Amino acid sequence: MEEKLITVTSPLLPSLEEFVPMLRDIWDRKWLTNNGHYHRELERALCEYLKVPYVSLFTNGTLPLMCALQALRVTGEVITTPYSFVATTHALWWNGIKPVFVDIDPETCNLDPDKIEAAITPRTTAIMPVHVYGKPCDTARIQAVADKYGLKVIYDAAHAFGVEVDGKSILEAGDMSTLSFHATKVYNTVEGGALVCHDERTKQRIDYLKNFGFAGETTVIAPGINGKMDEVRSAYGLLNLRQVDAAIAARRRVAVRYREALRGVPGLRVMEDMPGVRHNYSYFPVFVDAAAYGMTRDELYFRMKEHGVLGRRYFYPLITDFSTYRGLESARPENLPVATRIADSVICLPMYHDLTDGDVDRVLELIIQKR
Ligand SMILES: *Cc1c(COP(=O)(O)O)cnc(C)c1O
Repeated sequence: MEEKLITVTSPLLPSLEEFVPMLRDIWDRKWLTNNGHYHRELERALCEYLKVPYVSLFTNGTLPLMCALQALRVTGEVITTPYSFVATTHALWWNGIKPVFVDIDPETCNLDPDKIEAAITPRTTAIMPVHVYGKPCDTARIQAVADKYGLKVIYDAAHAFGVEVDGKSILEAGDMSTLSFHATKVYNTVEGGALVCHDERTKQRIDYLKNFGFAGETTVIAPGINGKMDEVRSAYGLLNLRQVDAAIAARRRVAVRYREALRGVPGLRVMEDMPGVRHNYSYFPVFVDAAAYGMTRDELYFRMKEHGVLGRRYFYPLITDFSTYRGLESARPENLPVATRIADSVICLPMYHDLTDGDVDRVLELIIQKR
């Protein structure tokens, strides 16, 4: 019997019936980009939803990383994690900055705050951690190290849309945070992203930087780039924002179902909710101990694939395994034992808002019965 393919993710799409009138309005206004009506609306709506005062929209989630480094004039070396999507480190490379990789905490998969200090040199100017899978970094301890050495902190919060700690947005941490609104993320604008900062002057500088550095008709204040989001995707984003809470609630139900079934399986580890945290259930990673489980992560991955269930080995390989970064001293596996072990054991299960109970049961059956 041909079984339906279960993909690892599926995009949250707004209703076409609601989108078409907005498109008509955009056609009437004939203002397609450059801080248009829907662009301003979406920035306002995101500030409210995310509980932050300043949001600058971008055309994807990589440009805000690059612009954050420019806005804060970060140079030299930046301490970061090998356990992320390559865009995190590529943003450093594009700014001529040397990444210095530090190992991760095995529980959260985030940069290990205890290992940052030993990696600081006279050339270090910033720390760039990632809230991996939307699980909050230990922001207090990271800030303590940053303050002690006078370093900037830029969080790659691409996975952390809507995540709160004790009722406060995780995006308040550090000097800036970046978001991705890529189609595969919890909240999407097809492609898109944002840079979150804490004061009006910085927001102004970011807005200049994302528009070639133009501060007026004839004034260019810096070698900016083009990172502007257009009206079509801003309107789409407004509609998706209305249904993102329901999507997160649906993801939570999937996560609870997975967790309850997998918690007791020997050789598998799942991530539990953290106290005081509003999670967004962006990913559902499972960590496979091959000896105890009786099957390696890769065996499980291919077994699932054979049965029409797509997992994703996310993050494998590590960023430090790619040719661009492999040669760096800090990229050696001996420097990164935890990240290396986690990358070899992780598999992310299908996770999205409209995954049915039947889909979840099929995934679980493959994992639990191993056939
Ligand atoms: C998705 C992602 C990005 C890049 O975002 P794009 O919108 O695809 O450019 C950056 N960092 C992390 C951790 C991501 O998951």
